[in-house]
Amino acid sequence: MKLSFVSTGYGNVPLGLFVQGAKWKRVRFPILCAVIEREEGLVLFDTGIGTRIEEEFRPLGARGNWFFSRVVMRTEFEPARDALVNQLPALGFNPSEVTHAVLSHLHWDHAGGMRDFPHCRFIINRPEWEDAVSRRGINAGAYIREQFEDQGLEVDLVSTDPGRPYLSFPASHDVFGDGGLVIVDVPGHAVGQIGMVVNLPSGKRFFLTGDSFYFPDSLEMKAPKSRVMQAVVSEGPESAETLERLWTLAKAEPDVELVSSHDYRIPGRFELAPVAYE
Ligand SMILES: [Zn+2]
Repeated sequence: MKLSFVSTGYGNVPLGLFVQGAKWKRVRFPILCAVIEREEGLVLFDTGIGTRIEEEFRPLGARGNWFFSRVVMRTEFEPARDALVNQLPALGFNPSEVTHAVLSHLHWDHAGGMRDFPHCRFIINRPEWEDAVSRRGINAGAYIREQFEDQGLEVDLVSTDPGRPYLSFPASHDVFGDGGLVIVDVPGHAVGQIGMVVNLPSGKRFFLTGDSFYFPDSLEMKAPKSRVMQAVVSEGPESAETLERLWTLAKAEPDVELVSSHDYRIPGRFELAPVAYE
């Protein structure tokens, strides 16, 4: 099993918007997906922004997300160049070999590529799905339902098992039953957000934490997102508990690499594909 990172474009925000108490200097950050190579095929963690983003942003209900993406986040994204499905061939991956995609949560910059992989199975936490499909109008927030609902996609709803504590988490779900990919709950940023621990054959462990925190500064300082950002994505009170749990884990298990979906240390501390971790 190998793990690599692909960025479906970049954003650029003042650090203080994403990390409470930090300076307001601008930081460029990736919109990451992870590609996991297994013998049976490829597994994605998140799908980033996809080929249909311009159409998806057009309806009135999505204009808030369009504004946030283009004006606040200054997203650099061109579908032909940056959508995951269009990047995979040059990296030596065939998009048709993607068998599964695990979604950390269903916000537009994570679920955007789902329809670009119509033949794979989507593994989604049941509470996240139920919350996302129930949202209407202004309550849609950072969700764009046409990215995932009523598109004939095959969705496997999963839940973590309270009988299976894992690391510092009270419940978990082993995706393929072999210990390689293990899902845990990291609620708050989204009601049913999940993270996934990737246990590589070398013993190296990556913990893909979604948007529990955006930047590593948050984890180091145990600093939540700015109040503005918490309001924009309507973060729940569980996000503080999740950050505390991740902070404790990072201290207790320093060899576990916690990587958020917008970790600006990629490239740098970790590299993008074609570099692969095994
Ligand atoms: Zn995100």
